[in-house]
Amino acid sequence: LYVLGIESSCDETAAAIIKNGTEIVSNVVASQIESHKRFGGVVPEIASRHHVENVTLVIEEALTKAGVQPSDLDAVCVTEGPGLVGALLIGINAAKAFAFAHQLPLIGTHHIAGHIYANHLVQPMEFPLLALVVSGGHTELVLMKEHGSFELIGETRDDAAGEAYDKVARVLNISYPGGPKIDQMAHESDGAVNFPRVWLEADSYDFSFSGLKSAVINYQHNAIQRGEEVNPHHVAKGFQDSVVEVLTAKTLRAAKEYQVKQVIAAGGVAANKGLRASLEKVFKEEGIPFYVPPLPLCTDNAAMIAAAGTEMFKSGVRSDWSLNGRPGMELVSWNRK
Ligand code: ATP
Ligand code: MG
Ligand code: FE
Repeated sequence: LYVLGIESSCDETAAAIIKNGTEIVSNVVASQIESHKRFGGVVPEIASRHHVENVTLVIEEALTKAGVQPSDLDAVCVTEGPGLVGALLIGINAAKAFAFAHQLPLIGTHHIAGHIYANHLVQPMEFPLLALVVSGGHTELVLMKEHGSFELIGETRDDAAGEAYDKVARVLNISYPGGPKIDQMAHESDGAVNFPRVWLEADSYDFSFSGLKSAVINYQHNAIQRGEEVNPHHVAKGFQDSVVEVLTAKTLRAAKEYQVKQVIAAGGVAANKGLRASLEKVFKEEGIPFYVPPLPLCTDNAAMIAAAGTEMFKSGVRSDWSLNGRPGMELVSWNRK
């Protein structure tokens, strides 16, 4: 069973071929980070143009690297949403053209289902499973009782974790995307500023990161007013400590309450060294299996889309030619038993 996945929701144009839902045969990512850097974030119009230039090339490269012919494929899966509408449409139209030309089933896939299924490429999922999704646009705790079943038990009420990283990075004059650099600075730091932890209501699994972001901005501002030097490493470490402590504690509490068999982390911020180490430590102590994909599978890629898409294919999910980009698409279950 060979599935082609295509991803173009943000600033990565990607195509991948997955065998039997778990084996990566090829995984090609064309990143646009360099083009967006000087603007301090992703510029939608520029993203769309790069996707147009690259989408056919990444699909061809994925096929060539895999040594797979279109006739060997069983389905084409593409990110339907959420994401930038202009960016999504490029991948969707490429997928439609490919599927139509080669008479293959077309499946629209949810980007966050993809991030979660990146783990399935590394370690078979076991249910019930708790996924901590931490990315540029999402911070969620998702409970899965079986394949294709998603229950949102908590989410951010304001900024996503990755968004907070990128905004704090701007305050510290670090270029986009700031996440990896703040992570590195925190790692190297010999001290930490003490920033607040935002827990919300005692029983809540929701998150809030905008107050923390403001605390960092105020700290920087006050120091400048007093004519004091700010140690950016200490700020990075203090910020990261706060994010990691809250994410770890809420994930642990949810894992215990729902008595899950497996905990996974997904999304770009799951590449964070501090977060990975913290989650690994607490779940080892608790005796609950914890997994996180290798770094290239945490950030946007098409292997994860093909992995989720393969499960959708097996469940009989199909899209028709009216498939359209859905910028604000909700994560809905395709399996409801
Ligand atoms: P979404 O998946 O919610 O639609 P997205 O696709 O833009 O958003 P991802 O590509 O999954 O997000 O992740 C990108 C985010 O991950 C950026 O905000 C980036 O700063 C952050 N990130 C990447 N590596 C790290 C790291 N090591 N530490 C912290 N954040 C990181
Ligand atoms: Mg990206
Ligand atoms: Fe993403």
